Amino acid sequence: MNSDAATQSFFQNVMRNFDRASRYTRYPKGLLEQIKVCNSVYRFQFPIQTSEDEYEVISAWRVEHSQHLLPTKGGIRYSEDVNEDEVMALAALMTFKCAIVDVPYGGAKGGIKINPKKYSTSQLQRITRRYAAELVKKNFLGPGIDVVAPDYGSGEREMAWIADTYITLYSESTDAIACVTGKPVGLGGIRGRREATGRGVCFGIREACDVAEDMKALGLTTGLSGKRVIVQGLGNVGYHAAKFLEQSGCVIVGLAEREGAIHNPDGMDLEAVVRHRSENRSILNYPRATNLPRSSDALELDCDILVPAALENTITAENAPRIKARIIGEAANGPTTAEAEEILLSKGALLIPDIFLNAGGLIVSYFEWLKNLQHVRMGRMAKRFTETSTIHLVEAIEKLTGKSLVLTEKRQLAHGPDEEDLVNSGLEDTLIAAYHEIRNIAKSRNVDLRAASLIIAINKVADAYIRLGVFP
Ligand code: NAD
Repeated sequence: MNSDAATQSFFQNVMRNFDRASRYTRYPKGLLEQIKVCNSVYRFQFPIQTSEDEYEVISAWRVEHSQHLLPTKGGIRYSEDVNEDEVMALAALMTFKCAIVDVPYGGAKGGIKINPKKYSTSQLQRITRRYAAELVKKNFLGPGIDVVAPDYGSGEREMAWIADTYITLYSESTDAIACVTGKPVGLGGIRGRREATGRGVCFGIREACDVAEDMKALGLTTGLSGKRVIVQGLGNVGYHAAKFLEQSGCVIVGLAEREGAIHNPDGMDLEAVVRHRSENRSILNYPRATNLPRSSDALELDCDILVPAALENTITAENAPRIKARIIGEAANGPTTAEAEEILLSKGALLIPDIFLNAGGLIVSYFEWLKNLQHVRMGRMAKRFTETSTIHLVEAIEKLTGKSLVLTEKRQLAHGPDEEDLVNSGLEDTLIAAYHEIRNIAKSRNVDLRAASLIIAINKVADAYIRLGVFP
């Protein structure tokens, strides 16, 4: 671990950023303290039977950081390295993230201290179901209480097991399936969720790059086209962020994974690298790039945009002075330590913070929860109606002008929105609005984007507390 990461825990790092932003607000000290603290920290252990006469004790957590709005919401991390401090930090980030993108939840997070790769599917299923049952026992799971989601090491499969466990325990509840998001589409999940975080990362970076004044200050041209990008971590978030950035005209010049990093200043074809990795179990030795000695070397390469999309604390006081990127898009949670951030900002870089940039998954999870509570697929009621009325409008114009479109053109024009169209449109709109709200605060208060995001979050959470009053 690096020096600054070693002296400051992840939670302390998040709280240090909170304190920095709270200086720009005028709330009573006690209220700010209430917004900072984790309301409920549930640490528990449970056994699983690994063979006829062998047992293993599993450590797990669920932290509900803020219950100012219910349900609370947050992913479950499956990792050997997960600890209470990390779960608390991630839960706090969720509270701020929800407030920033106007998703009406409190923040939460969960953790199971295992390396999922060391367990069979059947063992993982038993661990996941028991974890869910333990949460139910203590009222830490439910569509109106606390809604879980995937995070590092977990995915659709685990979410399906959790949904089934909850439905089994609450078979009379018609909303039971809304206790978890990130489910497979066939089981109440929503189209577009898998790509949502990476797609959102691309939308957020695009908004930043479209502000001519800010790009000029960085010495860059406006827009994404031609921007040289390095992505660290080719998992769900990193892969999709890289894919949508590439589709938007960016050039991928560096990629880093656990096994190493590759570099080509002229750009690489992302899909070809992914194919190479699945055939060779490594990104290294990709024929149209150079291997770097260490994976972390990729962070220091010459580029315009650096997207850390792996884990926390990867940009530290040690490597920050050598980072050349003008824009750092935090796709992972907490990839930059507080000291590293000061160094990057003092070099004039633009840091787009995690609490805004990676909120895409959360936003689309909110759409999934709404879909589950409404018991209807988005677009189902309006799609055909929109198509028919647009066709009628086109026909009226044709009649008036005496000119007509061919049927395929007419159909294309009249396309009524599917679930995925609505999800992507809602995601884009939310992130555009949030970015400009953050930038306006940053400009008017003369602060960086993270401080501006946190000022917005503190204002919204404080406002909820003031309106709700304190019970009793
Ligand atoms: P993932 O497990 O799908 O991908 C992580 C990738 O990072 C893996 O491919 C892994 O091999 C790689 N990696 C691990 N250590 C590395 C290292 N030292 N150098 C380079 N690569 C390394 O996880 P994910 O869902 O993509 O999440 C990544 C980050 O994004 C996490 O911080 C997570 O909390 C955050 N996040 C995820 C979502 C989501 O919707 N999945 C939403 C918000 C935030």
